[in-house]
Order: sequence, then structure tokens, then C-alpha cells
Amino acid sequence: MAAAPIRKVVIAGGGTAGWMAAALLARFLPPPVAQIVLVESDEIGTIGVGEATVPLMAQFNGVLGIDEKDFVTATQGTFKLGIQFCDWGEIGNVHFNGFGDYGEAIQGVSPHHHWLKLHQLGDPAPIEDWSMPYAAARRDRFAPPEAVQQQSGEAAFFKYAYHFDAGLYARYLRTYAEARGVTRQEGRIADVELDPETGRVAALRLEGERRIAGDLFIDCTGFVALLIGQALGVGYADWSALLPCDRAIAVPSARRDPLTPYTRSIARPAGWQWRIPLQHRTGNGHVYASAFTSDEEATALLLANLDGAQLGEPRLLRFTTGHREKFWYKNVVALGLAAGFMEPLESTSIQLIQTGLARLVEYLPDMDFDPVIASEYNRVTANEYARIRDFLILHYCRSRRPEPMWQHCRTMAIPDTLSHKISIWQACGRVPLYSEESYQEPSWVSIFLGNKVLPRRYDPIVDQLTLQHLRGGMAQRREAIARVAERIPPHTVFVDRACPAPVAA
Ligand code: FAD
Repeated sequence: MAAAPIRKVVIAGGGTAGWMAAALLARFLPPPVAQIVLVESDEIGTIGVGEATVPLMAQFNGVLGIDEKDFVTATQGTFKLGIQFCDWGEIGNVHFNGFGDYGEAIQGVSPHHHWLKLHQLGDPAPIEDWSMPYAAARRDRFAPPEAVQQQSGEAAFFKYAYHFDAGLYARYLRTYAEARGVTRQEGRIADVELDPETGRVAALRLEGERRIAGDLFIDCTGFVALLIGQALGVGYADWSALLPCDRAIAVPSARRDPLTPYTRSIARPAGWQWRIPLQHRTGNGHVYASAFTSDEEATALLLANLDGAQLGEPRLLRFTTGHREKFWYKNVVALGLAAGFMEPLESTSIQLIQTGLARLVEYLPDMDFDPVIASEYNRVTANEYARIRDFLILHYCRSRRPEPMWQHCRTMAIPDTLSHKISIWQACGRVPLYSEESYQEPSWVSIFLGNKVLPRRYDPIVDQLTLQHLRGGMAQRREAIARVAERIPPHTVFVDRACPAPVAA
């Protein structure tokens, strides 16, 4: 006989992870199916960064029934077509990981093989010339693909994501969740009470003698990981040897027009700098490896490279790259920074919250908390982290920058799974994909080529096309992309017309 269903979910923490969990669970377990309580402490606050996303976010909004324009307006948001990488492969190099591919396959072969043949014959055009999101991004233009298709009458395949203010996003989801019956308890969690028989979490004890009991607990307490780490003693798989950046300085600056429809990532001697355009400000940060530079140097470098007036004081954030050895243990599931953090390079943390939540809903436990379900959740989640980890390492380990941190990244040991990918790519221009890959072939191609890691040969099927045919066909595709891009409105105009946020006081 099936065990009794979960009747009360307690979410510890009210940052992006906590409120995303509250919103999604309110959608799938609306009261009276289950009671959902979220505990957060205004005094402790949230991390306050995490403002760039990946296209999966649109699905999250879709499941919640959130209107995109309302969401972008409420969060001072903008749109994102990908990430521009400056100075990564070497100083002066620019490449772009766009949310799209390089066009449809030609005779069943991905077009980067055709590009490679032309490149080997001396054509200097970068692969990005065949990327629709890049064509729009480099012109600072944006409209959703359906609108682009309607206006231009030509097919435009790409995806997009968002930039938003993390504090406003949490507030937005709070309104959504509270309207659907989630109750919020303000207060500092002073202690976590364990059931002496099962070892499960029985209740959170808040300062002031309050006790919040529950069936399922979601740990969204950020880096402190109060439940999964401190109370249940689940260890942390430390990936510092693979992803050496361990600190960031963050500071906002004044908005600068045009609003770029992409995140910029600029490599620095001991890390990299982000630039995220929002409607009311620009988010900036310098992520760095403390073994190779000091906090003072890192701060000075960031402040010297803002493109608008500095707003507010720089904030230092420390982190250890890696993840919990178990994401789900007993009756606790960790999400967000409590689950792990792999550095913000490809904006994957919010995505991991989303996929973790989707998986939790899929594998929702009963009151017996069958450990086999937790173990499957942990297996899949660990794979997902490892695939993203490999993708992030590729950005570093094949750079040719001269500074000590970059030399270190070139010579450090990398996971076998990544070595295998690099070898296959170099041998024949293919990207072997494993299960739970977040990044598909075009993204890997963009980082390989951006770092000038070229395959030794292209697919022989390409030679079945005459050179004239190949050149003509590729030129046509490139021109079509440029033609469509020219008809897309400027991103700034699109945002100001479709989702203008209130002017900040
Ligand atoms: P937090 O925001 O830290 O929230 C923790 C919550 O727990 C807070 O409400 C706090 O009050 C509460 N809490 C903690 N202790 C207690 C207690 N004792 N009692 C009561 N409440 C408590 N992700 C992206 O997807 N894109 C990005 O561009 C990106 N950039 C980042 C840049 C940096 C430098 C860093 C460090 C992270 C970045 N991230 C990014 C990750 C992103 O910030 C997080 O994944 C996201 O904000 C979720 O955080 P969280 O909710 O897990 O933790």
C-alpha cells in the first residue's frame, strides 16, 4: 500500500531558489493538497546577485502562467540572446555563444563542417556569421522569434533568455506564491530539530520560540546550507581544482544605452568580468581566483572598467565551486546555492534551480521517503552538474592567455569526460553528448572555435558539394541572416515599448 502523501512542505530561505520553489510547488501542490510555508530572514537577506539566465526560464514562466511582459517590466528586465566573450581565447579575441544554432544541417551534416572547409580554404568569416542570435545581438536588436518571422516573412530560429534584478524577481515570485496560498514566516532559523528515530528533519526552530514542523523540507538557505549541510551533515564535493575562481566583487553602475541584448564576459588576468544590462542599472562583477590576485587588485580592476557611473559600494562574495554530495537526503532537498555553485560564467545556477524543481515534482516522495527515489534524483542531478562543469572548464583550459592563472588552467588535470569530448572534436569535428547535457552541439562549437580549438578534418560528406555550390549556399545563408537581422527593432526600443519598467526613484 502506498504511504500517505506529503501534506506540509517547509521551504527554508527566501532568495531566488526559495521563491522559485514556493511558486512552482504552489502551482503543483496548491492548498489544500499541501500546506506550503516559506521561512526567511530579512535581517540575513539574500545574495542579491544572479541576474542573467538561460532560455529554459521561459518554460518556467510558462508553467506558472506568468506573462512575459509583466515579468520583464516588474523585474527591470531586458532580453538576452547569448553571451559575448571578449579576450578569452587570447587578448583581442571576441566570440559569441548564442541561443541558437548555425543553421539547419546540410545533407545531414551540421553546418560547422561546411564552415570548416571554407575556413581551411582561407575564408576569414567567423562561424558567428551564420548565427541568427549573433546577427541580432551585434546590431543591438531584439524581438521574439515569432515577431521577427512575422515582420520579415523569413524563418528565424533562435531562443532567448532574460536579464533581471534578482531582488525584484524574488519579490515578484513572492506575490505570485502568496496569492496561491503560500505562507511566509519572517525570522531567523536558530536550530534544526531532527527526529531521533528516523534522523529526518522534524521542524525548524526560529528565534523567539517558534517551531515550524513539516513533512518535506526544501533547503534554500544559500551557501550556509543550514539543513542539508549543517543539520544532516551531507558533505560537499569540492571542484576548486577544476574551477579555480572562488570570489567575486559585484557593483552596479548607471544604465548605458543602447541596452545590449546579451551578457558580456570579459576575461581578466585572474578571472573574468561580467556586464549585465538592466533597465534601471548595469550589473557588473569581477569573478576571480584568489590564489592569483588580491581582493584589492580585483576591486580596482573592476572599478576601472565600468562603462557608467558607479552606483553603490562594491560587495565581496566568497564561494567554493562544487556541489553537495547528495542533493536530496532523507526528507530534505537542497536547491540553489545550498545545493552547489559552479561559478556564474554561463548563468547556469537559476537553470539548476529550475531543473531541480522540475525533477522534484516528477519524483515527489510520499511520507515513506523511499531512498531509491532520492538516489535517482541525486544520480541525475549529479550528472547534470558534471556536464555543466565540463562545459565551464572548456572556457578556461583551452585559452592561450599568458597570465599565471590561465597557464594554470591550461596545465591542470581535467575530467576524462571532457578530455574525451576534446579528442573527438579534434579528430572529426563531432561533439559526443552524454546524458543530462545542458549544452548542445552549437554551444560546444562556439567555445571550441572561440578558443581556436579546430578539428583536424571536416565531415567527408561536405566534399560531395562542389566548391561553387558550397560557397554559394553558405553565402546565401549568411546574407539571409543579415537581412532578417536588419529588420529587427533595436533592443532598447523593443524594451521601452513592450515592457518599460517604472523609473527608479
Ligand atoms: P540566497 O539568495 O543566499 O538566499 C538564501 C535565503 O536563505 C535568504 O532568504 C536568507 O535570508 C535565508 N536564510 C539563510 N540563513 C537563514 C537563517 N538562519 N534563518 C532564516 N533564513 C535564512 N545565477 C544565475 O543563474 N545567473 C547569474 O548570472 C548568476 N550570477 C552569480 C554571481 C555570483 C558572484 C554568485 C555568487 C552567484 C551567481 N548566481 C547566478 C547564482 C545565483 O545568485 C543563485 O543561484 C540564486 O540567487 C539563488 O540563491 P539562493 O536563493 O540559493 O540563496
